[in-house]
Amino acid sequence: MSVIDSALVQIKRLHPYSPGKPVEELEREFGISNAIKLASNENPLGCSPMVHEVLAGASEHIELYPDANAFYLKQRLAQKLGIAENQITIGNGSNDVLDLVARSFLDSTGEAIYSQYAFMVYAMVTQACGAQAKVAEAFSPGSAQSYGHDLDAMLALIGDRTRLIFIANPNNPTGTWLESDALKSFIEQVPDHIAIVIDEAYFEYVDMEQYPDSMQWLDRHPNLIVTRTFSKIYGIAGLRIGYSVSSAELCDLFNRVRQPFNGNSLALAAARCALDDVAFVDQSRRSNQQGLQLMQGWFGQRGIDYIPSAGNFLTVRFGDNSTQIYQALLERGVIVRPVANYNMPDFLRISVGSKPQLDKMFAILEDIL
Ligand SMILES: *Cc1c(COP(=O)(O)O)cnc(C)c1O
Repeated sequence: MSVIDSALVQIKRLHPYSPGKPVEELEREFGISNAIKLASNENPLGCSPMVHEVLAGASEHIELYPDANAFYLKQRLAQKLGIAENQITIGNGSNDVLDLVARSFLDSTGEAIYSQYAFMVYAMVTQACGAQAKVAEAFSPGSAQSYGHDLDAMLALIGDRTRLIFIANPNNPTGTWLESDALKSFIEQVPDHIAIVIDEAYFEYVDMEQYPDSMQWLDRHPNLIVTRTFSKIYGIAGLRIGYSVSSAELCDLFNRVRQPFNGNSLALAAARCALDDVAFVDQSRRSNQQGLQLMQGWFGQRGIDYIPSAGNFLTVRFGDNSTQIYQALLERGVIVRPVANYNMPDFLRISVGSKPQLDKMFAILEDIL
């Protein structure tokens, strides 16, 4: 017997999360410079310049523990979102909140439901808790919302052991989204004792008329948990900060599970400041819309299929050559994201870069293809 034998089976069966390749690593491996990363849905415009200023000040007292209750950040969020401070749970990235929620609801006697092609972290946290995953088939390729969540299929999986449902709106890596009427009707049909997570990591990017702000349903549905992040449009992924909004009662539970200092002092200060720079967020959203249009146009003109996206990335079908194309792009200094781990080996997910980044990517891709 070794100590590894004593570790939990569900932990040993986990596959480590495979992140996008860091730029430095690629440049080191291939001896190149000026590589661009379009692999992790980061903001190509960086973050608000105000954040950099605030960070300099905040770094003066890093000998002190952060505010475990994130008083000022919660105050700003509450004002901005029209909710109460005691409904907010802070996470070390919203992935941390997803983990807190899973640990609050799931053990080996429970089941979680999510969609095929849904964000990988739902599977990871479900399995880490030793719970059973019920995976609903997504809409099939060729249908109106190919690869998107099929809410009826998800409803059909609800059983006596269901404790938690994960929904990504929009979803990563497919970019698919759910409209207000459909999602509302789904929430109304889920029994009140089952928790529903609506993961809105890309909320601020979405510009679709029928796209809902799920927080409006919190009052009527105390089983709802809405998660958002500062990693995407706010551009501070490296600081790791995200949050959920739920009923105060659920929030109280999550705060018992939560590590007391999971939001570090630099992240708390940066997030508070990032919320205030509305102009930067607007600029990022516009730049993303232009980039997405460019990408959809470019691939469309060449007859290359993609999944229409509401996020800051486009998942493109390159077919059997995806791996070679991924490698060829790498060698020329462009990092994109394979999604074979999502059972989508024909696709590559490409984050919407800045105009210069996209021009570079198009030129290199033209050459490769
Ligand atoms: C990026 C992403 C997150 C957020 O990750 P953080 O931990 O906040 O950096 C959550 N959900 C989805 C679907 C994502 O794509």
